[in-house]
Amino acid sequence: MEELISQLIDSGYLKTPAIIEAFKKIDRRDFVPEELKGFAYVNEPLMIGEGQTISQPLTVAFMLELLELAPGQNILDIGTGSGWQAALLAKIVGLAGKVISIERIKSLSDRAKKSLLKFHFNNIELIVGDGSQGCPKGAPYDRVVAAASAQEIPQPWKDQIKIGGIIVAPVGESLVKLTKLGETEFKTERFPGFVFVPLIKDGKKS
Ligand code: SAH
Repeated sequence: MEELISQLIDSGYLKTPAIIEAFKKIDRRDFVPEELKGFAYVNEPLMIGEGQTISQPLTVAFMLELLELAPGQNILDIGTGSGWQAALLAKIVGLAGKVISIERIKSLSDRAKKSLLKFHFNNIELIVGDGSQGCPKGAPYDRVVAAASAQEIPQPWKDQIKIGGIIVAPVGESLVKLTKLGETEFKTERFPGFVFVPLIKDGKKS
């Protein structure tokens, strides 16, 4: 783990002390299936069942850095998967913050819940449902982050974020950072070269 973290720092992906601290405290091994534990610190996505993956550490580091996180923020995490990223977010926003993490596949959400038990977070809520609609009940959010790729950023995410808030999500094979400047005004930045599983809506790629 030390080696993976140093590699991410040396290559410039991990920068912020609070994010580095979270990477150290939230062991990726705890979120990887039994038979893949030996690969937990390899900088690659790994299969977690149901055709889904736990994201590559480099990608998670890059997304967390783009999010400009701070204690106390209210975050919507779309695509819980293994729960690793939700745990990192919860550690960074702290007890005054909140993470709602939504996953469409119940068996993955159930497993994430088990993996999270040992960390005793009381600021994470796991929801089984379609995150392409966001999650109105916890809105407005300071940050929305997605780990599944759509053709464009779904409108509900844009509606459910506060002005000044940030969305980081994959669109096609790029990561997109949207900063909400006004009710309908967004600044867009694109970072190409990332591969994600598709965001599924009504059983289809969206
Ligand atoms: N952050 C996760 C990455 C999981 S991969 C981790 O650290 O492990 C992305 C996840 O998004 C998959 O588990 C997939 O099932 C889920 N997903 C895809 N479309 C979704 C949707 N519409 N709503 C909620 N989750 C979705």
